[in-house]
Amino acid sequence: MTTVDLPLLPLGRGVDPNSERGVDCPGDLPPASDPDLVARARAAKEKLGERVFVLGHHYQRDEVIQFADVTGDSFKLARDAAARPDAEYIVFCGVHFMAESADILTTDEQQVVLPDLAAGCSMADMARLQQVESAWEALEAAGIADQVVPVTYMNSSADIKAFCGRHGGVVCTSSNAETVLEWAFERGSKVMFLPDQHLGRNTAVLKLGIPLEKNVVWNPRLANGGLTAEQLQDATMILWQGHCSVHGRFSPDTVDELRAEIPGVQILVHPECQHEVVLKADLVGSTEFIIKTIAEAPAGSAWAIGTELNLVQRLANAHPDKRIVFLDRTVCYCSTMNRIDLPHLVWALESLVEGTVVNKIEVDPQTQAEATVALQRMLDLPGK
Ligand code: SF4
Repeated sequence: MTTVDLPLLPLGRGVDPNSERGVDCPGDLPPASDPDLVARARAAKEKLGERVFVLGHHYQRDEVIQFADVTGDSFKLARDAAARPDAEYIVFCGVHFMAESADILTTDEQQVVLPDLAAGCSMADMARLQQVESAWEALEAAGIADQVVPVTYMNSSADIKAFCGRHGGVVCTSSNAETVLEWAFERGSKVMFLPDQHLGRNTAVLKLGIPLEKNVVWNPRLANGGLTAEQLQDATMILWQGHCSVHGRFSPDTVDELRAEIPGVQILVHPECQHEVVLKADLVGSTEFIIKTIAEAPAGSAWAIGTELNLVQRLANAHPDKRIVFLDRTVCYCSTMNRIDLPHLVWALESLVEGTVVNKIEVDPQTQAEATVALQRMLDLPGK
């Protein structure tokens, strides 16, 4: 996470997010100061033509987004990639778990490239396979594993998705978490929700009406997750102790302050935010929901948005007729998303022009098969 002190907005003034440049990578990374980077990226993309398909997540920098053939959230992008089987190369401007999902959903002939391998996701990294397997053993020891359906958020590694596939579980997105949880509770009396405790709690409590006290948090750093067998037996939701380092920053105090400062402001947040923030918000929804809500909002309306800053800035620039502010007093980008910058994109594209596939993301066949089971269960649900 990159933070820079900044007074509360307004946005749309072009704050430079380039505070963390890429890390070492094989090959010759062009310097960020190269004035020809835009022209080089354009030329490489033109040379590759239909052979390359560039995906840009909404949280990417503008300098990268301008080269995306399509933009979206992680799930939409993976599906967009799957819909382009003719594209030999999928260049994923996002983070590691997204590129893995694209590899799972595309054909074996297609190659997925992540321009900087250091673009991970701190939330996905909070649930490691070994930790999750240990937790499952504890659920077996407590005599409840056969009642538990594991549900993992899209923002998780391929091996966690595969774990869910093996254990009768499913993947969800921030758009369909409610539908997925309903599916899970038709098959078990408890859910283990990975890795984002906030999305799990917000959906369980606010959408399904599960009492807050029936949600317990499994801390992978503590013996038995820090829970007794009785607590596990009594719980309905076993929430993995993971969170997004960007969305987890928004606070209920800032919501109160903004309401006092901006008459009529509406608070619009992502469900990865803390429960206390979501309770105070006017609207809660996925990145796609946030974009649509702002696009349809009347001119003159005022919004404080709790999601990643690259997207909030882009929305502020795109809708100058509305007042759009960021729901935090500091600039807060997703630093791993920001790893993908123009030099890395140019390097990846020019390497492809030369016939070299750099930073290829490849999920092993067994993990891919098991993860596909969990993804397919989600895809088979109505509305997704
Ligand atoms: S914004 Fe949060 S969930 Fe998304 S990639 Fe960054 S750390 Fe992960």
